[in-house]
Amino acid sequence: MISFDMSPALENIRGMVRMMAEGQMRPIARKHDSHEAGKPWDYINFMWETVKARAAESGRARKSGDGPREANLQMVLAIEALSWGDAGLYLCTPNAGLAGFAIEAVGTPEQKERFLKRFTEGAPKWGAMAITEAHAGSDTAAIQTTAVRDGDEWVLNGTKIFVTSGLMAAQDSPGIVVVWATVDRTAGRAGIKSFVVEAGTPGMKVLNVENKLGIRASDTATIVFEDCRIPLDNILGSAEVASKSGTAGFKGAMATFDASRPAVAASGVGVAQAALDGVKEILKQQGIEVRHDVPDQEMTAIERDVLDMEAQVQAARLLTYRAAWMMDQKRPNALEASMSKAKAGSVATKVTQKAVEILGPLGYSQKHLFEKWMRDAKITDIYEGTQQINLLIVARRLLDFSSNVLN
Ligand SMILES: Cc1cc2nc3c(=O)[nH]c(=O)nc-3n(C[C@H](O)[C@H](O)[C@H](O)COP(=O)(O)OP(=O)(O)OC[C@H]3O[C@@H](n4cnc5c(N)ncnc54)[C@H](O)[C@@H]3O)c2cc1C
Repeated sequence: MISFDMSPALENIRGMVRMMAEGQMRPIARKHDSHEAGKPWDYINFMWETVKARAAESGRARKSGDGPREANLQMVLAIEALSWGDAGLYLCTPNAGLAGFAIEAVGTPEQKERFLKRFTEGAPKWGAMAITEAHAGSDTAAIQTTAVRDGDEWVLNGTKIFVTSGLMAAQDSPGIVVVWATVDRTAGRAGIKSFVVEAGTPGMKVLNVENKLGIRASDTATIVFEDCRIPLDNILGSAEVASKSGTAGFKGAMATFDASRPAVAASGVGVAQAALDGVKEILKQQGIEVRHDVPDQEMTAIERDVLDMEAQVQAARLLTYRAAWMMDQKRPNALEASMSKAKAGSVATKVTQKAVEILGPLGYSQKHLFEKWMRDAKITDIYEGTQQINLLIVARRLLDFSSNVLN
């Protein structure tokens, strides 16, 4: 029989994170919408204790081969609740981040220990993932950053833009950055590999930090690599370019997205739920209770809008939970990960806009957080593959077309 019930452990996590989000994130959300407010150190230090303990638990589980069966579901529930609190602050949470997803997806046991142990001890640290370049975003095959082997080292050269937590990972903490670079420009996707660069490595420099529309508490950096030398065994996966037309190595790097796309989807669901809850709360204060038990023809326009918002958020949530659940079952989930990301990014964008529309000037003003949620939501429709790219992936997988045929 199909069951959509949460286990008591999952309910517990959801409840605890939600309480934290309400008590510790909401009160400082507006302040940290401005970069001038500085880093939210109280939040960071508080979260670091939990992150360290969870990372240590995952490390032990990895070694014993006996991890929690619901690790990915736990992750998306926590991200949803944190993003309900504040999506920008959630992105400030010190952890291995996207770098961790990459290392978990394709790293060797030795690499997992070497690069991820730092997230179990000491002061707060961050991980980041540097894929995007000025002329390579959706089209990752166009990556120009090079990795050239020189004896027992790789030498990286290139510029990466829009790196989430890049400042904290590369410069302001002893973190790590996973960098996508090509070992053979003539090989297209097959030549692209990922490399781990530790903070403080000579030749890696943060050039600037973006001033952006939303998720303003989170730093988004440009990182330059100039003759940046890293050990040979900092490559994730095989160094071999399988074949000029094949994409074996690239597929390894892409495996990162199986975990990161449901994570971004969960963040979108969290922001959308925040806007939905906020609208219902304000309507209630104005004496408008949304009825769920009247026939269509008797509903008010606002009731119809709110019901549609509820249905959309729930659909995005269920797709997200499914993608995470499949990972927990060790089942391939690339299709479901892209479905969840495409749906949740779109829902977050539309639901937060609708919230502002329903509330009018009240939604647009800074008295409440609706205008901020509208700005914060949009990024979930852009990074980790835009909505259009994820829909393209879904279409390719459903139709069994290669990227050469459908692009
Ligand atoms: C705040 C922020 C944080 C980010 N964090 C990171 C990070 O941590 N690491 C990282 O590497 N990158 C990061 N990015 C970059 C992000 O992943 C890219 O911006 C995104 O993948 C889009 O790539 P692009 O900017 O090159 O846009 P383009 O690829 O030029 O896309 C422009 C538009 O064209 C559409 N489009 C492109 N190709 C197709 C196609 N074949 N079919 C249909 N439509 C298409 C896109 O959907 C989009 O609407 C971040 C970006 C932002 C804004």
